[in-house]
Amino acid sequence: MLFGPPGAGKGTQSEVLLQRYGLVHLSTGDIFRYNIKNATELGLQAKAFMDKGELVPDSLTISMLESEVVKHQEPKGFIFDGFPRTSAQAEALDRFLNSRGTTITCMLALEVDEEELIKRLLNRASTSGRADDADESIVRNRIAVYNRETAPVAGYYQACGKYRGVQGVGTVNEITTRLCAELDAFVQ
Ligand code: ADP
Repeated sequence: MLFGPPGAGKGTQSEVLLQRYGLVHLSTGDIFRYNIKNATELGLQAKAFMDKGELVPDSLTISMLESEVVKHQEPKGFIFDGFPRTSAQAEALDRFLNSRGTTITCMLALEVDEEELIKRLLNRASTSGRADDADESIVRNRIAVYNRETAPVAGYYQACGKYRGVQGVGTVNEITTRLCAELDAFVQ
């Protein structure tokens, strides 16, 4: 699991890690955006929440994630990016993976301070075309939602010794090196 607030660099680092470790990348945000673009029922439901910077309801998110996981036959592993984002999602993921005879390897969390996040997201708006990046009040709401609902999920993995925080400021390469050092300690 790659964890961290909006704008922490999860998507960028996922791209590098999935190649290096041969993993399948599952980004809930990307999957929702794909559904919105294709005007699916799920996309229509998710859009109302995403536009406001709110979380998509757990029931929708969990069933969507599970149906994506089962599409892959004998994967080497997954990078979950943007999931779990609530305690209910973390519990559902545990139950789901247990039922498939597997478990979470680790949660790597990118740590970036709030003002830097806001700067990055407002900057990203010009290239991402994402309405939820362009408006500072929505960006601030996403960070507030993260602090309130998502940050506590870290405690769940801390309690079982699977959490590692990584400094998320520096060059892309420097941050990749930090993440790989932590991940290698879990997978070797
Ligand atoms: P970021 O991490 O930069 O905010 P994402 O692309 O991960 O961007 O997510 C964009 C939006 O998609 C979120 O603000 C939220 O509305 C929705 N979303 C993504 N993942 C989840 C999730 N696990 N649970 C609920 N909503 C989610």
